[in-house]
Formats: sequence, C-alpha cells, structure tokens
Amino acid sequence: MANITLKNVTKRFDKLETIHSVNLELCDGEFVVFVGPSGCGKSTLLRLIAGLEEITEGVIEIGDKNMNNIAPANRGVAMVFQSYALYPHMSVRENMSFGMEMRGESKENIHTRITKASHILQLDELLDRKPRQLSGGQRQRVAIGRAIVREPDVFLFDEPLSNLDAELRVDMRIQIAQLHKKLKATMIYVTHDQVEAMTLADKIVVLRAGHIEQVGSPMELYHNPNNMFVAGFIGSPK
Ligand code: ADP
Ligand code: MG
Repeated sequence: MANITLKNVTKRFDKLETIHSVNLELCDGEFVVFVGPSGCGKSTLLRLIAGLEEITEGVIEIGDKNMNNIAPANRGVAMVFQSYALYPHMSVRENMSFGMEMRGESKENIHTRITKASHILQLDELLDRKPRQLSGGQRQRVAIGRAIVREPDVFLFDEPLSNLDAELRVDMRIQIAQLHKKLKATMIYVTHDQVEAMTLADKIVVLRAGHIEQVGSPMELYHNPNNMFVAGFIGSPK
C-alpha cells in the first residue's frame, strides 16, 4: 500500500523556511497533481518525498512507514524530471538498466523489466540509440521507462512535459493517464498546465508560498474554490 502522509512537514534551507508545516494525506493508487506558482515549493515537496532533500521537521510516511531515515533507493519511489536527466554516453537500454545493475538485479530480471517497459512506452525500436539520437518526446519516454523498471509504488513527476511542444504534450498526457491505469501506482505530478491538472488528477493540491491553499477533486476546486487564488489557478469562472 502506497498511501502517503505528510505530518507537519517543514523545510528550511539554512534559515529560510520554504515549506511551512504541511499536512497532507494521499491515498494508494491516487493520481495527485500539485499546482502553484513558481517558487511555491512543489519541487521541494517532491524531493522531500523522494528523500533527495533532508526533512527539517515533521514526518513523511509511505504505506504507514516513517521514511525520515530511509535512503532514497529504499523508499519505493521513482522520480521523473523535466530535464529527462539521461546519461548521454549510454544507450536507451543502458540508461534503463544502469540503476538495476547498481542494485544487483539479475540479468534475466533486468531483461524482463526492460522488455515490459519498452513495450508499454513503445521504445522497442529505440533501445540501441543514444539520447542525442532521440526527439524530446522519445527522451521523456525513456526517462519514464527508467522509472517504470524500478517497479516503484510511487511515481513523482516534476513538470515532465513542459519542455515538449503542445501537440506532443497532449499525446504524452494520454500515455501517462494510461500508464497510471495500467500500473495502479500512486502518482504525484507537478504541472503549470491547467488542462493537464484537470484531466489527469483524482486530487489537486494547490500550493502557495510553501503552504497548501486547498485540496480537492478537479470538480470540487472548480466549483468551490476557497478563494480567488485557487479560482485563478484552476480556471474557475469569476
Ligand atoms: P517550485 O518547484 O514550486 O517552483 P521550489 O520547490 O523549487 O519551487 O522552490 C521553493 C523555494 O525554495 C524557492 O524559494 C527556492 O528558491 C527555494 N529553494 C529550493 N531549493 C533550494 C536550495 N537548494 N537552497 C536554497 N533555497 C532553495
Ligand atoms: Mg519546480
């Protein structure tokens, strides 16, 4: 079970507090979208959940287990970044297998998982290419494939489509929705795009300056925004 609970989560960089005692409960298998202006703390929250930043105060639980002292590799979490973060000198197959090799997975297991992920993402024909031989959309599919082969309970997407052109974004958005249906993992997805948020989310979390303004389904937020700020972000009629 990959329900996620944040209890009074606070993050300070030196003296500057950027996340202020956030409380949040996310259900197993839910597709959660974080929205909010640049600098409000969306990436920091994802990085805290992934264990890439140390928590200053509070507790993060995944599946009712305290994550605070658990290394990123052991959290059952995989993150996909806007910048793809692929290794340029490695082929698509190597990019996907590298992490598994580091963790000592067997050759057969690695092969099975790569075959499965590349089938889901239509990467079969691209496995021997280097990242520079791929389009932006293909690169992002490889980055997602690299997350899938880890078989995580939780996927974290930090604005994964914002470097792609509009048409491709629609295409990839549909693929991500299908992926969620197929894998039934808990997914947290950061975006600036209202349409992405409204169409993908079971639950939207609206953030502002390091705290949560409102949490609800797309329809709840659209019809009953708590304030003008939420209405503005969700695109509710004024
Ligand atoms: P968002 O992803 O919503 O644009 P971030 O989570 O990246 O926002 O940043 C939230 C705040 O934390 C910003 O004010 C940012 O400058 C600050 N911040 C993020 N990372 C660091 C860091 N490593 N050191 C100092 N401040 C940081
Ligand atoms: Mg960010």
